[in-house]
Amino acid sequence: MVGSAQYGLSSPWDCSVYAVRVPQGLVLVDTGAGTGEDEIVANLAEDFPGVPVMGAILTHSHMDHAGGADGLRQRLGCEIAAPQVSREILELGDEKRSGLQQARERGGYPPTLCMKAYAVDKVFCADVEFQLGGQTWRPVHVRGHSHDSFCLTTRIAGKRACFSGDVVFYGGVLGVINSWDSGMQGYVEDLPRLGELGVDMLLPGHGMFTLKGGQRSIDAAIQALRSGFLPAQIGQGAAIFL
Ligand SMILES: [Zn+2]
Repeated sequence: MVGSAQYGLSSPWDCSVYAVRVPQGLVLVDTGAGTGEDEIVANLAEDFPGVPVMGAILTHSHMDHAGGADGLRQRLGCEIAAPQVSREILELGDEKRSGLQQARERGGYPPTLCMKAYAVDKVFCADVEFQLGGQTWRPVHVRGHSHDSFCLTTRIAGKRACFSGDVVFYGGVLGVINSWDSGMQGYVEDLPRLGELGVDMLLPGHGMFTLKGGQRSIDAAIQALRSGFLPAQIGQGAAIFL
């Protein structure tokens, strides 16, 4: 992890930013909001001196995940890979569809924080594996947090890793928020796609991560839905975002 509000690694508006060792160097998963760029670059230099950053994969177009991508690309020379469904939002800097406008009005971000339009180098689609940094990544589309939310699965040190963005957090907490494209129906339809993946490492965009038994968190949420109940959601009790 090279960026995070919760772990105190970068700015208060940053999601967890992961750096993955890949055959050609490093690949970042998510990029923070852009407000913690200096700290993320410094953390990378300290943890991985001289190792090139080949790419940054975005899980969805929310500001705290995607806002920092262009700045990091300029500083690090990496490619940006994003879901095909996020591309237009990012390339237009569409603050309404990305949810930034509403989140800012509610006080979730400073009034001066704006979404800068930038080009996406590479897009990915549901269930179509792609290569970045010499590493194979499999995108799983799970609506519910946002219409464009993806989880990325890959192998790390022989283990199955799932970068779950804001789709599912440790303990099976779901990322339902009060936003135009968020709701339980997306989860009801799509969350079973994460079942039976045998995930070891669950690496969400916020909060605790685990290196072992990650599938248990995912299965807890799937099982709750199957039983006819709503799983825990962010914003409830101790399950907070930032
Ligand atoms: Zn989000």
